[in-house]
Amino acid sequence: MQTILTGIRANEEPTLGNFIGAYKTMINLANEHAADSRVNMFVPDLHSFTTPIDHSKLYAQVIKGVKYYIAAGLDINNPNIHIYRQSHVPAHSELAWILDCFTYFGEASRMTQFKEKSEEHADAITVGLFNYPILMAADILLYDAKYIPLGEDQFQHLELARDIATRMNNKFDRELFTVPASEAEQVKFMHLEKGLRIRSLTEPTKKMSKSSTNEKSKISLSDDPEVAAKKIMSATTDNEGVIRFDMVNQPGVSNLLTIEAMMTDRDIQDVIADWAGQTSYGDLKRKVAETVKNFLSDFQAKVAAISDEEAEAVLAKGETYANEVSKQKLAEVQRAVGLIR
Ligand code: ATP
Ligand code: MG
Repeated sequence: MQTILTGIRANEEPTLGNFIGAYKTMINLANEHAADSRVNMFVPDLHSFTTPIDHSKLYAQVIKGVKYYIAAGLDINNPNIHIYRQSHVPAHSELAWILDCFTYFGEASRMTQFKEKSEEHADAITVGLFNYPILMAADILLYDAKYIPLGEDQFQHLELARDIATRMNNKFDRELFTVPASEAEQVKFMHLEKGLRIRSLTEPTKKMSKSSTNEKSKISLSDDPEVAAKKIMSATTDNEGVIRFDMVNQPGVSNLLTIEAMMTDRDIQDVIADWAGQTSYGDLKRKVAETVKNFLSDFQAKVAAISDEEAEAVLAKGETYANEVSKQKLAEVQRAVGLIR
């Protein structure tokens, strides 16, 4: 049985970018493949404090993350679908250490996200921030996951996981790990032409990020729907004066068209065709604001209906599964590197 796996960091409130790039993609794939694939949707809580957070809020944020998976439509009654916390499956940390010793400092240093994030958090560049792609490789390789639905910003980390897996398979002359599918195969599996990248509302050349301190740049899943609508209305556009999909010259307008298409489950080309030749950015913004407002009201009502106890019960079940599977893989690796017989 093949494994599809993804996780969304529980540091800050997830954004519409996360919803479109990760939640929605994963849930569509889960619905499509859960009959004959394992679907692991985990909460990477150990990744939560690679950059500074308010630790008193972390536990609640993790539980909320689980509710988000359920509210977004993950079928928790399907026996092939598993939700678990990384911190509650010790093999993740143990494998990460072993992988650390098979990852070159030079290759880890090439990760562009580390460079970007260390500029953002120049006062607190931790070893954890540098190391997190290797923990991410462990998250993936422990379960022999082949498909990892991710946003475009994560492909470089996926490539690192592929390199580590290939290196260790060669070194120990056995198929220790399933090598995850290439970027091209991942994108095809997600039924996309290329990786998704929802842009910041204030700086549309950049991606929308949940850790951004500029509230206006992002729509958080917990935003008051009216406030979210206002953020869309004040999104940065351009002076071209015509609605066109052109990520290079009109990234703001193209971002709004993308959000509209993704949130209404329509083909982007159809949405582009609807607006072709129109000149009122205000009309486009009103339409997208309405779509986002309705989505948030509906989504937040679903989240509120899930209790902490229900979320914790789902985790307990998922963690039993994850510990069983990951222990076996960890033992295979420990055997290969000579730690056990
Ligand atoms: P942070 O700023 O804390 O890194 P993030 O918004 O980048 O937050 P992650 O937790 O790093 O979120 O990523 C979770 C998932 O969401 C990943 O699969 C990532 O590729 C995807 N994702 C993040 N931002 C976007 C975006 N703007 N558009 C599409 N997908 C995104
Ligand atoms: Mg990120």
